[in-house]
Amino acid sequence: MGRREPQLEFRWASWFRGFKAPAVPLSLSGEGDGGLTAWCAEAAQGLALHELARKVRVSWNPRMRTTAGRAWWPARGIELNPKLKDCDPDEIWRTLKHELAHLVAYERSGRRRIVPHGAEWQLACCDLGIPGEKIYHNLPFERRRLDRKHAYACGHCFETIQRVRPLKRAVACYECCRKFNNGAYHERFRLVKKKA
Ligand SMILES: [Zn+2]
Ligand SMILES: [Zn+2]
Repeated sequence: MGRREPQLEFRWASWFRGFKAPAVPLSLSGEGDGGLTAWCAEAAQGLALHELARKVRVSWNPRMRTTAGRAWWPARGIELNPKLKDCDPDEIWRTLKHELAHLVAYERSGRRRIVPHGAEWQLACCDLGIPGEKIYHNLPFERRRLDRKHAYACGHCFETIQRVRPLKRAVACYECCRKFNNGAYHERFRLVKKKA
């Protein structure tokens, strides 16, 4: 399944020469990926989303645990879990497109509130060549393990946490609170129980 990737890499690498990487949003951590960033920029350009093309940035975040990828808007950042590199290369591209579809959906909707995996996102998935994409953000090999536990997800970044026992009080996403609320609890990032 890795046959396609070297070609893509070659293509993007040659296209990448002279490409000026967008400024790094302060809120995003981890190692930037110029090749994947360039790919996303070109895909956004193809959809006539010029601001997204200018600002999108892909990085690998070693702090991610069970989440395969997540998208930040309006920072227009995509974070990928370095564990994806151990998966089928197709999994990296699928995750990248899934996350880019979130940014495309937000970009097209502006300030209008949309459901994370709603019609706008599904349309963006079609535009990026992954129609019928699943809503999961977990690494493929983590899914079954998650099913057996109490799983909670952040509605903002989709990070999932697992608990052996159910949470008794409201808990918010640590990463989002850290990035957007100086580490203090905020209702907006409250973890919501996932259906088994
Ligand atoms: Zn998603
Ligand atoms: Zn979060």
